[in-house]
Parts: sequence; C-alpha cells; structure tokens
Amino acid sequence: MSSMPPQRRGPSGPGAAGSGRGMSPQQGAQEAERRLGLPCFFAGQRVQGMFGCVACQLQIRPRAGATLPVCPQCGEMIWAYLEGGERPVPEGEAAPLPTEQPAPDVSVTDGVKLDGPSRPVSVEDGVKLQP
Ligand SMILES: [Zn+2]
Repeated sequence: MSSMPPQRRGPSGPGAAGSGRGMSPQQGAQEAERRLGLPCFFAGQRVQGMFGCVACQLQIRPRAGATLPVCPQCGEMIWAYLEGGERPVPEGEAAPLPTEQPAPDVSVTDGVKLDGPSRPVSVEDGVKLQP
C-alpha cells in the first residue's frame, strides 16, 4: 500500500505561481528584478531616482519625499530603477526614521507595565552623608 502523498515544494515551482497574479507587490518586484537584472521597487515605496514601468516602460521620477505611484499609464505597480550604480534604499526600510509611519500590528503583552503603582525602590539604611 503506497499512499504517500506527492511532495510539494511550495508555490515557487515552475508554473505553480501562475502568471504574476496573486503575487504581492514585493514578490512582483523581486521577480521583475530577477528578470530584468535591475533593482525593482513597487508602488508605495519611497525611493529617489529615475524609474521605468516594467510593463509599459513609462519613465518617472518621483518628487523628493514622494512614494512610487501606480503607473499612470498602465496601472503596473512595479518599477525598475534606471539610474544604475548603487541600489537605492527605500526610506523606512533599512534605516528606520522616526517619521509618520503607520503603526504595525503590535500585540500588547499583558503584565508589562512601564509605570506600575508601586516601584520597588530599595533604600539602604545606614548610609549617611556626614561632613
Ligand atoms: Zn506602465
């Protein structure tokens, strides 16, 4: 009786991931980066430089501080970085800046209190400051 189920190697096999649908923008950018050999980013990331839509080749340059848009021409979310050289680091990814970032889902652990009602302060007896 051989009823071993066929081993699955996850969704990254050839053809298993479909034709680009259902991927997250990040996965799409990684995929495009592999395909094009260019650093790729996706809409919503805050990076500077010249970018080209991976679908229709429209070129854009986001304003300083602006995020990558969805391609105004074809709706693509993935952009290839066209300037060459160093790969730009999207703001808020490598160097966390204390700017207005959407708070991630943080689960508050019970029992951790910063200002409890009674702080354990140990006062040592017998310590006297004498002139
Ligand atoms: Zn486009």
